[in-house]
Amino acid sequence: MLTHNTLAGKHALVCGASQGIGRACAIELAKAGARVTVLARTAQTLEKTLESLAKYGSGHKAVVCDLSDMRQLSSILPTTCTDVDILVCNSGGPAPGPLASAESQALDAAFTQHVLSNVALVQACAPHMKKQNYGRIINIISTSVKIPIPNLGVSNIVRGATASAAKTFAGELGPFGITVNNILPGFTKTQRLEQIIQNTQSKTGGERDAVEDSFTKDVPARRFAEPEETAYACVFLASPFASYINGINLPVDGGRTGCL
Ligand code: NAD
Repeated sequence: MLTHNTLAGKHALVCGASQGIGRACAIELAKAGARVTVLARTAQTLEKTLESLAKYGSGHKAVVCDLSDMRQLSSILPTTCTDVDILVCNSGGPAPGPLASAESQALDAAFTQHVLSNVALVQACAPHMKKQNYGRIINIISTSVKIPIPNLGVSNIVRGATASAAKTFAGELGPFGITVNNILPGFTKTQRLEQIIQNTQSKTGGERDAVEDSFTKDVPARRFAEPEETAYACVFLASPFASYINGINLPVDGGRTGCL
């Protein structure tokens, strides 16, 4: 059973933790007993996450880093990743738009932020995890790895690449007690979803309720997720109870994805 000390003694690094799903993951991991390092681009917003974490255990800290800048990332890896047992790879999704008109610069930037940073983080955290014979790597990506999402052309590509990297790492690191899994969120109440709703409203001129209904009509749960509902899946995958789950894509989407 997961309890408040299931993850006691474990150190979690949660990327993109200043808001949304990443922030919820950081808080739920701390509630389960982990010491948490939160990473994002802005010290001020990370401070707010740290204030929330302070209610649950001690030793939490913040690291400022832009995951789209490999030089910045390389500079923090040696000090940040020495004793990470649980790595949550997460950041903001690429801008919407069709792939047919995507600029190569946007593709390049998204590949760096989502794929190259992911590989660098895993490579930096793996040596300690191997020594401990315990490691949990969890990528927060998207259901687009199963069914590409229209108008998220750039995102669809990098999510697929991240999922493939996870499956590859799962095979390479599995013999050392390390699991690598992907969480695929559905519509989750965060600022990103808020922006998508507002963009849709301004394009269609529709009422907010109508826009929300148009999103939830294909979700068997008929509602959006709370960020915590995704974070609970993250805590489970991070725990010893998920020791034989490796290399999977786990949708947390209220049943929306129309395939297995
Ligand atoms: P969000 O935009 O609310 O939060 C993203 C977090 O990542 C923030 O803390 C932000 O500061 C941080 N971040 C952004 N760019 C960064 C960078 N370059 N370097 C470091 N940190 C950076 O997003 P969210 O809704 O919490 O979603 C998290 C992930 O899940 C995203 O990849 C998103 O595309 C994906 N997702 C979200 C939904 C949804 O409905 N919310 C659905 C499917 C997939």
